[in-house]
Formats: sequence, structure tokens, C-alpha cells
Amino acid sequence: MDFDLPEEMQSLRESVRRFHETEIAPALPDYEARGEFPREIVRKLGEAGYFGAAFPEWLGGSEAGFLAVSVIAEELSRLAPELGYCMNMQAMTCPYTIYNWGSDSQAEAHVPDLISGRSIGMFALSEAGGGSDPAGAMRTTARRTGDGYLLNGSKMWITFSDAADTGVLFAKTDPEAEHRGISAFIVRPKDYPGYHADPIPMSGLSQALRSCAVFLEDFPVPEENRLGAEGEGFRIAMNALEYGRLTVSARLVGLAQAALDAAVSYANERVVGGQAIAHYQMLQERIADSVVAVDAARMMARQIGWTMDQGRTSTRVASRAKYLATKAARLAGDTAREVFGGYALSDEYPVKKLNAYIDMLTVGEGTENVQRVLIAQDVLGIKDANRHSLRNRLRNQT
Ligand SMILES: Cc1cc2nc3c(=O)[nH]c(=O)nc-3n(C[C@H](O)[C@H](O)[C@H](O)COP(=O)(O)OP(=O)(O)OC[C@H]3O[C@@H](n4cnc5c(N)ncnc54)[C@H](O)[C@@H]3O)c2cc1C
Repeated sequence: MDFDLPEEMQSLRESVRRFHETEIAPALPDYEARGEFPREIVRKLGEAGYFGAAFPEWLGGSEAGFLAVSVIAEELSRLAPELGYCMNMQAMTCPYTIYNWGSDSQAEAHVPDLISGRSIGMFALSEAGGGSDPAGAMRTTARRTGDGYLLNGSKMWITFSDAADTGVLFAKTDPEAEHRGISAFIVRPKDYPGYHADPIPMSGLSQALRSCAVFLEDFPVPEENRLGAEGEGFRIAMNALEYGRLTVSARLVGLAQAALDAAVSYANERVVGGQAIAHYQMLQERIADSVVAVDAARMMARQIGWTMDQGRTSTRVASRAKYLATKAARLAGDTAREVFGGYALSDEYPVKKLNAYIDMLTVGEGTENVQRVLIAQDVLGIKDANRHSLRNRLRNQT
């Protein structure tokens, strides 16, 4: 057993740092000021290979694997929380679902463009009726026509949906059935009429890389863009969320580390009552608790990637890791809030923004309660978390 990151992963992490310094930090604020999606930055991230780690070479990937995905997602999120989303939309939930469940020709048609950042991705599962119960809440329908389907309904909270070129979207082909009525589709929002995305105002989160409500009115999907069989959509969605938990756990660890680093450096600088506040034991206790929580969360977040790299089902470890990462990020975010005092509310410091992203990631890919339910039902013997094997085409697991 080796707890050190292999050298090539350390170099990968270093390269994300350098990329941030030269390509992201100088350019991202202008996109943010204009509220414009940073296509050029996403394209450069793709070109540099950061989205292709879990894909085979024939699709333009590097086959570096899932631990590499975790390392990249953590570092990118630590440095630029808003770009952390890309590790889902460009590297996992959207393209990996197409690769995992699509035919070779579907994968060839969409994956290379997504992982190279030429095409912007989205993953559209949640609806207004309740993201924690997608099967029960789903009202969007896909009605068969001569040469495909017409989609009607709406989706809620769909990240990148006003910029997306390609997405994976779930709709009911059998509205009477619950889980078994759901099918998955590759959608091309810009190719057809009947698609509209309305940004959801959210304070603290990026206005350039944002989430929207999506409205579909007789939106066409050709037959060849259905993913898997009719009725297989729920299984595809649950599998996809597993890959989402890999990146979301790592992103939470990155945010937690950023909050902790900010707290440590401010505690050493800020002088109150004649000494740096770092010397006050009540703040030291908060920092010590956060350090340990973040270290533990990082180990477990990486364990998801390691488990996937072994070609093993990672559902059990993924729900535990995501839950622990949420706790660690909340603790570190609160510690930063306390250390910064009133300045935690100032836009001059990163604390408010980091906490907004921590809140956001706490609900994404299953809320804290959803993870608690999965963990408790597994350990109580009610539902084995690893009962369904995870499809992992890169590691030949079907
Ligand atoms: C900024 C942002 C971006 C997002 N991006 C995407 C995206 O790109 N694609 C996408 O498909 N979705 C996306 N989501 C949706 C996200 O996945 C959902 O918000 C999440 O699944 C929770 O659903 P909900 O908000 O409807 O909460 P609800 O399901 O209504 O839950 C409300 C509360 O009830 C609790 N609860 C629900 N069921 C149970 C239960 N069985 N036991 C105990 N407690 C329970 C929950 O834990 C929560 O605290 C995004 C959300 C946000 C905020």
C-alpha cells in the first residue's frame, strides 16, 4: 500500500497549477465581468489533456485513469472553483456516459469534441419536482415519431445548459412507468428549435459558468442519438452519478483546502489584541479540526479513483467519500468564516465564494441525506451499496 501520489500524478498536479497561473488567472475575470462562458479557456484545458484522463487513445484520451481525474479535479477546483464544473461536464458525467453506454460510432461522434473542449457538455437529469428522486419527479417525455423522438418538458439546475453543444438528457419514453420508463438521449441543443435555457440567478456563484432551467418543446432527437435501450435510462443515470461523485468529492476537497489555506494565511497576518490571531487557541482548535478532516477526505476521495482504476464497483466508497468531503469542506469553510471575522463577507477575500461553491457541491450528485441513506442502508443490510456492478468501459468492466 502506498499513500504517496505517484510521481506522474504529482507532475500532473503541478501542471494544473502552472496552467492556472498562465491561462486561467489572467483571463477568467474578464469573462466573469461580461457574464460570458469562457469557451477559449475550456478549449485550452481540453487541449492540454485535463479532460481526457479516463478515455482511451482512440477517442483522444490519455488513459491516465480515474485517480488522475481526482487529482486534476481537486487542483482545478482549489484554484478556480467555477472551472471545477468542467470536470463533470467535459470529463465525466457527459462524455463518460456517452463512452460507457454508447456505440463506438456514438462515442466517436461526440467524445473527442467534448474532451478536447471544442464542444461544451451538459448532463440533464434533475427536474423541479425533486432532484433526490429523479424517477418519481421526472415529467419530461420523449414521444416516438417516425425517425426518432420529440422531447417535451423541463429540467432544473442544468449546469452549462445555455452554452452546451452536446448533452446527455433523460426523459420518459413510458410516462406511466417509474424507473423503467426512463430513457437516455444525446441531445444537440443548437441543432434544432424547441430548446430554451433560462439562467437561474444565484448569488456567490459564477455568472459565466452557470446553471439554468431548460424548457423543451417538441425538441427533436434522432433515433441514432438514443443511449442504450429504451427504459435503460435510470441505470445509465445512476452509473453516471458514480462518476460524478468521483469528481465532486475531489472538488470539495479542493475547495476545503483553499478555505483552509486562506484561513491559515489570514490568521498569521491579522493582528488583534497585540498579536496575530493565529495564537488564539480557540482558532487553533478550529484549524486543527479542519486540517485532519481535509486530509481524511482527500484520502477517501482518491480511494474512489483508485477503486475505479482497479475495475471495481465504487458505489460504497463513493457515497462515503462524498459525505466525508462535504463534512470536511463545511468545517473548513466555517473555519475560514470564523478566522476572517467580518472580512469573510467582503468580496476582496475568497471566503464567501468558496462557501457558495461548498454549498452547491453539497447538494450535487446527491445531497448529504441521500448519501446518509445510501451509507446506512448498506451497513444495516437493507440494500447492498455495491449490488449493481458499475460499468467502466476504460477498465473493461461491464
Ligand atoms: C448550482 C447547481 C447546479 C446543478 N447542476 C446540475 C446539473 O448539471 N444536472 C443535473 O441533473 N442536476 C443539477 N443540479 C441538481 C442537483 O443534483 C439537485 O439540486 C440535487 O439532486 C437535490 O435535488 P433538489 O434540489 O430538488 O432537492 P430535493 O430532492 O427537493 O431535496 C430537498 C431536501 O430533502 C432531503 N431529502 C430528499 N429525499 C430524502 C430522503 N429520502 N431522505 C432524507 N432526506 C431527503 C434532501 O437531502 C434535501 O435536504 C444542480 C444543482 C445546483 C444547486
